[in-house]
Amino acid sequence: MSLIVQKFGGSSVANPERIKRVAQRVASYQKAGHSLVVVVSALGDTTDDLLELADKISKNPSSRELDMLLSTGEQISVALLAMALQELGVDAISFTGYQVGIRTDSTHTKARIIDISSDRIIRELKNKKTIIVAGFQGTNKNQDITTLGRGGSDLTAVALAKALKADTCEIYTDVDGIYTTDPRLVHDAQKIERISYEEMLELASSGAQVMQSRSIEVAGKYNIPLHVRSSFSTNEGTWIVKEDKSMEDVLIRGVSVSKNEAKITVSGVPNKPGIAGKIFRTLSDAGINVDVIIQNIGKAVSTDISFTVPRNEADTAVTLLKKVADESGIKEVTKDPHIAKVSVVGIGMRSHAGVAAKMFEILGKNRINIEMISTSEIKISCVVKLASADKAVKLLHQEFELNKKKK
Ligand code: ASP
Ligand code: MG
Repeated sequence: MSLIVQKFGGSSVANPERIKRVAQRVASYQKAGHSLVVVVSALGDTTDDLLELADKISKNPSSRELDMLLSTGEQISVALLAMALQELGVDAISFTGYQVGIRTDSTHTKARIIDISSDRIIRELKNKKTIIVAGFQGTNKNQDITTLGRGGSDLTAVALAKALKADTCEIYTDVDGIYTTDPRLVHDAQKIERISYEEMLELASSGAQVMQSRSIEVAGKYNIPLHVRSSFSTNEGTWIVKEDKSMEDVLIRGVSVSKNEAKITVSGVPNKPGIAGKIFRTLSDAGINVDVIIQNIGKAVSTDISFTVPRNEADTAVTLLKKVADESGIKEVTKDPHIAKVSVVGIGMRSHAGVAAKMFEILGKNRINIEMISTSEIKISCVVKLASADKAVKLLHQEFELNKKKK
């Protein structure tokens, strides 16, 4: 008998039929004798719908009120799932984040969990209850409701798995695992059986949208194995686990693409100390995350700096930087929204040379121009024209032989 944390995403509970199906799965685990803590997201696109609704009222709503609004989505799903379980004779009980002691800091809309006082859950588990917890939410020290950032139900699940020392943490979604690349784009993409936290984190942060990055980070930090699997089948999914020796044999684990970024170029930057600091301080103060950065080596008095930002923040970034430009003698600030970032990820590249060369050659041979490059120990990313991104992914997937079944 084990304690299992299960998380069901929005698509798994999008409508009453699906909620009933989830209830059946949970019931089957419960009947097999397991103790269950089930985390659910808001039904389908509820969170997006709520954001749209807020937008109709205010273009700049306070983040506290946004959290108050967004947290209602998950409150609907927990109640419905508990009812569906009760219909099946399971003694289920639903809770908000507050009720199960999920305490966060006060960064509304992207709060971090500080701790979980799990006494209530433990008490209810002892009463043989099946616990249903609203994902994505907590409260700060003033008992104001906070949310954990988009996709934050994953984090709720991982944090509960840690706090309760669960035996397993299952993440149910609408795909049956993590693939070598997006199977909608590349038909012979393969399901990955085991992937390390680090690789998963790099894939997630470079475009693969299966799990929230922060939740993978936390799972890795506390070594909580995650099983990502489909809520529509009983097939084994993908295990996200601590890296082991055998994983290094695989050169590249996956190819990802991010089409949500824009390139900003600041040109004619006076070649003197302090200006880059000013540029990136301005962006960071505005909460804009910068990704790939390149600076050309200035021949003489000035240089160019290019970087990528989330596409929906590009206009803000340009406006802010034009002010900096006026003050600092920078010539021009321009943006190019028609770019994409294609990345190859794998811990195998730590011990195998030549991965970058191979990637650049594949792109070059196929006349795909590389506009920017960035690397980490286990990832190489190239910024290319948006129009060639899909082709780049297909070519890289093929040439790195990811279409062949591996262990
Ligand atoms: N409902 C929230 C969202 O859509 C949280 C989640 O789905 O994990 O971002
Ligand atoms: Mg959702």
